[in-house]
Amino acid sequence: MKKIGEIGWVEKDIPSIGPQDALLKPLAIAPCTSDVHTVWEGAIGERHDLILGHEAVGEVVEVGNLVKNIKVGDRVLVPAITPDWGSDAAQRGFSSQTGAPLGGWKYSNYKDGSMAEYFTCNEADFNLAILPENISPADGVMLVDMWSTGFMGAENANIPLGGSVAVLGIGAVGLSAILGAKLQGAGRIFAVGTRPVSVEVAKEYGATDIISYKDGDTGDQIKEATDGEGVDAVIVAGGGSDILIDAVKSARAGSVVSNINYFGEGENIPIPRTPWGFGMADIDIHTGLCPGGRTRMEQLANIVTYGRGDPSKLITHRFDALEDLEEALLLMKDKPRNLIKPVVILGD
Ligand code: NAD
Ligand code: ZN
Repeated sequence: MKKIGEIGWVEKDIPSIGPQDALLKPLAIAPCTSDVHTVWEGAIGERHDLILGHEAVGEVVEVGNLVKNIKVGDRVLVPAITPDWGSDAAQRGFSSQTGAPLGGWKYSNYKDGSMAEYFTCNEADFNLAILPENISPADGVMLVDMWSTGFMGAENANIPLGGSVAVLGIGAVGLSAILGAKLQGAGRIFAVGTRPVSVEVAKEYGATDIISYKDGDTGDQIKEATDGEGVDAVIVAGGGSDILIDAVKSARAGSVVSNINYFGEGENIPIPRTPWGFGMADIDIHTGLCPGGRTRMEQLANIVTYGRGDPSKLITHRFDALEDLEEALLLMKDKPRNLIKPVVILGD
């Protein structure tokens, strides 16, 4: 990111590492819709010559002298979120918010990211997880942000076993939320979206009903499909500033509206007063940033290893050179209808 609205290449020294850190080279990298908010909407403010990229699998090339478990040559899942595990927020159970709101989100926010020949990871022993041999770097890179975020959306939604869920937005994050909701025991899962390529994966990941927000008001369609009741949980994984209107209208008493969407624009986000029971409808709005850290990555890898989910379904475009990152990022910005997630693969 050269500045708001402009991307390009920049020449930098190989970064140095602290005693708990690791230096890595990427084996697979994916751009994220969050990069699009950051660069083209200026969502987190101005950044100059910041290296983007927070979704990577890497190979360790150097470790600091206090690193015990991670070794040179290890192939590792690098979480998008790399908390400071000793911080107060982490100790209170909110590791993604260490130091400041969203403070666990370092890469491509206030630290250079992984779209580079080399990048670093803080607290390597606590943040990096060994990539199991049965998982390719390309598949692995789908876990570090997309699965972790989407699954968190389902975890935060408090879905009753056999309950109903609506997932608003079925890009890679929403699709991961659908799989997460299925794994959490949802009975009925509404996928709200239109792109045929996403609809297909939504069904494979567990959606039982497909609703197009282009065919009418989402809340009305969900109410109609549930005998006027609404669903037990709503996961918001896309849409603009008005999306919480659809979410609250789809919910019923006791629902959690679990937001994982990144609101890139506008000062305020509207909540619909009447469907929210004038603030008294027992409909909670829960927010969260992708969980990071070693244990989380190991758990996500288990889902692949033991056959409970296939991350490769999210990958629609594959590239094989660092130079292709620019095209991959622009794909993420332009979102052609056949795109879910592009990945740049530099090692196998
Ligand atoms: P995406 O753009 O591929 O998917 C979102 C989809 O929502 C798009 O297909 C869009 O057409 C659709 N949409 C637009 N309006 C809609 C509406 N009214 N109802 C239903 N769908 C609608 O994006 P993605 O890569 O899947 O990411 C989703 C969001 O999650 C982004 O905002 C991203 O920045 C954010 N994100 C958050 C975290 C986190 O930690 N919370 C992590 C990663 C990404
Ligand atoms: Zn991201």
